[in-house]
Amino acid sequence: MEERHDIQTFRQDIARVYTPWAAVRRLAGYIRPYLGTAVLAFTLSLLSAGFFVVRPYLIKLAVDNHITTGNMEGFDLLMGLFVLFYLLRFVVDYIMNTLTGVLGQKVMHDLRMQVFGHILSMDMRFFDHNQVGRLMTRTTDDVNTLNELYTSGAVSMISNLSIIAGIVGIMFYMDWRLALITLAVVPFLALVAAMFANRIRAIYRVIRKGTARVNAFLQESILGMRVIQLTRRTRWSMRKFTGLSDDLMHAKIANVYWYGLFFPLMEFIGTVGLALILVNGGFRIAEGVVQIGVLIAFIRLVDMFFWPVRELAENFNVLLSALASSERIFTLLDTESRIVSSPASLPVPGERDIVFDRVWFAYDGDDWVLRDVSFRVAPGERVAFVGPSGSGKSTIINLLLRYYDVNRGRILVGGVDIRELSLDEVRKLIAHVGQDPFLFNRSVAGNIRLDDAAVTDERIWYVLGRMGADRVFEGLEDGLETVVRERGSRLSQGQRQLVSFARALAADREILVLDEATANVDTYTENLLQKAVPVLMENRTSIVIAHRLSTIRTVDRIHVIARGKIRETGTHAELMALDGLYAKLSRMHFEG
Ligand code: ADP
Repeated sequence: MEERHDIQTFRQDIARVYTPWAAVRRLAGYIRPYLGTAVLAFTLSLLSAGFFVVRPYLIKLAVDNHITTGNMEGFDLLMGLFVLFYLLRFVVDYIMNTLTGVLGQKVMHDLRMQVFGHILSMDMRFFDHNQVGRLMTRTTDDVNTLNELYTSGAVSMISNLSIIAGIVGIMFYMDWRLALITLAVVPFLALVAAMFANRIRAIYRVIRKGTARVNAFLQESILGMRVIQLTRRTRWSMRKFTGLSDDLMHAKIANVYWYGLFFPLMEFIGTVGLALILVNGGFRIAEGVVQIGVLIAFIRLVDMFFWPVRELAENFNVLLSALASSERIFTLLDTESRIVSSPASLPVPGERDIVFDRVWFAYDGDDWVLRDVSFRVAPGERVAFVGPSGSGKSTIINLLLRYYDVNRGRILVGGVDIRELSLDEVRKLIAHVGQDPFLFNRSVAGNIRLDDAAVTDERIWYVLGRMGADRVFEGLEDGLETVVRERGSRLSQGQRQLVSFARALAADREILVLDEATANVDTYTENLLQKAVPVLMENRTSIVIAHRLSTIRTVDRIHVIARGKIRETGTHAELMALDGLYAKLSRMHFEG
């Protein structure tokens, strides 16, 4: 309930923060580091607009002062200027486009890094609720859309506005009546553009959402390919994907329809404007009140006028699409991690016992997974948790590693609440070996070392030797340099386990958290793993989710957990003598 309330207020906050104007301001903020470039590009755009709009006026001068009068003195100079302005505009445009292109790429780079940095900081609850594919879309597609805003959107918008202003200025300077006629069609253009913008904005939202859905489904399908193929779900997956892709296609086609309608409509209104100019200008030339060069210049100017207006609508479109993307990116950036390092960040005290003090925890709402769990692990002690699957054993570990924070109660390390310790400091104390260890697509050595330069090849061989597993890795094609491929698929399950054991042993942390694998491995590896567990636990405070009798017998204490509560505590012998839940589990598990 509390959770739901949280999400609702969160949404309201977002709705309040993301007025388009706020988003635009925030987007503009990303230009700040490159302000010099931006100002230069802006200045050049004004210059380019100037070279552009002055040309029809030169035509007017050529016609009225030279061609119709027959006085050709200075005509060559005028034509020279005409060509020169063409060339200058070309050069200026080239520089401007390069500048804005580079600017866009830099801003995008900054944004990508910010988004990824933020994702790195998020807590596990966040990842429980956000599909990988969607997050990928945020960091790639959505950021790309913003690029368009910075490269073609913003500067081009300013350039078009200044072109329009320039054209209108020259029009009024030459003939205010014709200028007014031209402007008379602007409200119609604006009306069409506004109607269009509304539709497009809605369509863009759908497109962005659709893209995220397609990517999320694609990512999940590729990860789950084995299950899909084995359970012959390929047909189902194809159908589902077709549906998602269809939705995306229809949204994009709707976009095409509106564009298809929009441009001819704008063109049509422009043509009406031109016709009015021709009629009015034509009659007034006949009356002798307007010079023919003015009309020629106007014909050109009207053409030139509608072009930036159309472009503006297009720029606006880019802006809308960028706003849709930015909304998503900013929402992501503004979602704060619930697990943050405490501002107090106390150092971890020397005597590091681990205490769970009346801990209650739920992943969702008040669906309690741990209820009032209390226990203490003294420094150097070895403690095991056993219990039926789903009873909350892994959750205890998730809380100790601060993947999640407790709802009630406290977890203490060395007598200090872990929420008051620096997150880094706590995690630096702990080595975690999970059931299904994650391997990165690099070499075996790289996976054991994990960028810790202190873990040299010699150390890795030493560690493997202590586990009795050096033979296994010597046998690989490229030894320690063998690349394990995607998620370690090049290695067997047992080998992957050994790698993660070696990772923990090489890191040499004070506290070991071990979730013993239940998955079947070959007898040889099973033997190795069994022998390696005591080596791992040596001289360390150890918390183990135990499945092997050999492990259970070597620990100091066993907690039996069922449905989120600790039911029994004692050594193997004591618990067997008690003849309760443990004895029952034990008989089922080890003897059955
Ligand atoms: P065990 O390790 O004892 O098998 P877990 O601690 O993994 O059990 O799970 C305890 C309960 O919490 C289970 O009912 C499980 O469905 C639930 N659970 C585990 N992880 C999550 C999660 N990320 N989100 C929601 N529920 C979860």
